[in-house]
Amino acid sequence: MSTFESLGLEPELLRAVAARGYTTPTPIQAGAIPAVLADRDVLAGAQTGTGKTASFVLPILQKLGQERGALPRVLILVPTRELAAQVADNVKAYGAHKPHRALCIYGGVGERPQIDGLKAGCDILIATPGRLLDLCQQGYCDLRGIRCVVLDEADRMLDMGFIHSIKRILKLLPAQRQSLMFSATYSEDIRGLAAGMLHDPVKVEVAARNTTAERVAQLAYRVPKEQKRQLLVHLFENGVGDEGPWQQALVFCRTKHGANRLAQQLEAAGISAAAIHGNKSQSARMRALGDFKTGRLRALVATEVASRGLDIKELPQVVNFELPNVPEDYVHRIGRTARAGSSGAAVSLVSPDEAGLLRDIERTMRQSVPFGTLPPLPAPEARPGARPEARRRAV
Ligand code: AMP
Repeated sequence: MSTFESLGLEPELLRAVAARGYTTPTPIQAGAIPAVLADRDVLAGAQTGTGKTASFVLPILQKLGQERGALPRVLILVPTRELAAQVADNVKAYGAHKPHRALCIYGGVGERPQIDGLKAGCDILIATPGRLLDLCQQGYCDLRGIRCVVLDEADRMLDMGFIHSIKRILKLLPAQRQSLMFSATYSEDIRGLAAGMLHDPVKVEVAARNTTAERVAQLAYRVPKEQKRQLLVHLFENGVGDEGPWQQALVFCRTKHGANRLAQQLEAAGISAAAIHGNKSQSARMRALGDFKTGRLRALVATEVASRGLDIKELPQVVNFELPNVPEDYVHRIGRTARAGSSGAAVSLVSPDEAGLLRDIERTMRQSVPFGTLPPLPAPEARPGARPEARRRAV
């Protein structure tokens, strides 16, 4: 087992760590601290509670040396004011024997004190993207001295719609710099952002179970592809077992076309439904979401991309009509149901060709998903265009 000394931390920091009462680095710290000290870019999969903040604050403080600078040298981007304050507390605690100054910049409060703070100078800037970009564009903030940028809770920042601000901020930074990214989940957007900003990153994965997945009651059904729709209708009408009909469910499909078709089929079966995906206009998406939130729609059929940032409180039911190709997307999907800390349920319809995907998901979560007994369903219907003999067999 590693110690903080063995990670290469300097005495000033070891004293501060000891003062906090920490004796052993957490896994994320053991993985990230040596990499950051070695000037490597880092991509870390870690949630709050894993000790992730110290895993970047400690080595960053060490790399700042003992001098103060005229311009900020470290930029830590965070999604919320609360997290900014938390990171600042960590900088203060771990930097107790260091001379560096940290400044927090976030929206929702007056700009003036923050502008004054920037004028007074700081070494570490901790900021939410929107306000920071604002102050940069007004000429109050000069990011040309940044040597290290951290994206903390990158997935949450993207969920909150900060992607464009982040990209603009990154353009204001020197190309020669170190970049660190922390994210609890790896969606396609996160992977894209990482590919664009990280150079040959050291990847640090924390073995801790995903707490989102733990909070959500999960169930899978083995079901032939052509019976998935009937099973879904059955679940809307009867629920799992005899729990009673589902009021509402967010249903995930893999393709836009599939989402459209399923929404139509549900409608035809008497279940009010709408599809949301990338081909729908923003106003159509907002309308569908609004109708779902007010209860006018029982089913919202979504593709992966369209699901980002959907904050639907107290949604009890998520259905994976098709499993995602990427295990992390599964965690992301089912996370939609337990947003407000409510316990939820995620049901996956797994056709034989998706068995491998489910195994990957279970491996990633370090948790197995129990199978439910398939309820009696009508025989699969022939698909239009199916060969006549297939159609005969189906009836
Ligand atoms: P974080 O994931 O950064 O939000 O940290 C979660 C909590 O773990 C915070 O209260 C930290 O102060 C604490 N913590 C961080 N590193 C350690 C460690 N090595 N040993 C024990 N607790 C720690």
